[in-house]
Amino acid sequence: MGNRLKPFRDTGTGYKPSNTSFAYYPSGARYSLGGWQNVHNDVEVIFGVEGDIINEQGDVCCEIQNSKPEFILLALHWEFYLWSPETATLGIVNAIKRHHKEIVCVCHPYDKYHLGEYIDIQQVVEVANQYHIPLELNAKTLHSGNAIIEKLDYVLANANEIYVNSDAHTLRGMKELRKSAFEYLKHKRYSLSE
Ligand SMILES: [Zn+2]
Repeated sequence: MGNRLKPFRDTGTGYKPSNTSFAYYPSGARYSLGGWQNVHNDVEVIFGVEGDIINEQGDVCCEIQNSKPEFILLALHWEFYLWSPETATLGIVNAIKRHHKEIVCVCHPYDKYHLGEYIDIQQVVEVANQYHIPLELNAKTLHSGNAIIEKLDYVLANANEIYVNSDAHTLRGMKELRKSAFEYLKHKRYSLSE
């Protein structure tokens, strides 16, 4: 992600779509985004969504406030996953298989707050590699102590591509949190390429 492009993302609304598996539903109030413009500097800002995996079939909800996102990340959040936690791996794997053409990366599959303990990380990495989808190094998960370190380290060692993401919820976090992710990589002696 270059300097010129700053992405913001949010999570999908997370309810089950009625008759489709990958949908953009009208709802609340992202209406104002259409007229939103960055007036502070000349950095282009784009808006994305963490599309929520909702079941073991890999149905994904990307709906957020009547606005089609400019990019989609795939995420499993415990509060929006409607099937039993034991099926979480299947949910992620099926979602990658079905939606790999639409997604940018797979978010935080090692987050203990989001069913990380149930997720077979080897399977997720294998399928993500197979479909050329990066896995996320999520700085917020790492910083908050929610990363299952063995699983995160497995991702870093075995994923073909890593997407470093602050997951910041504030502007300050976009700088500081992201930096902490790179520090972790340095600490683990990974070399970085642009
Ligand atoms: Zn998330």
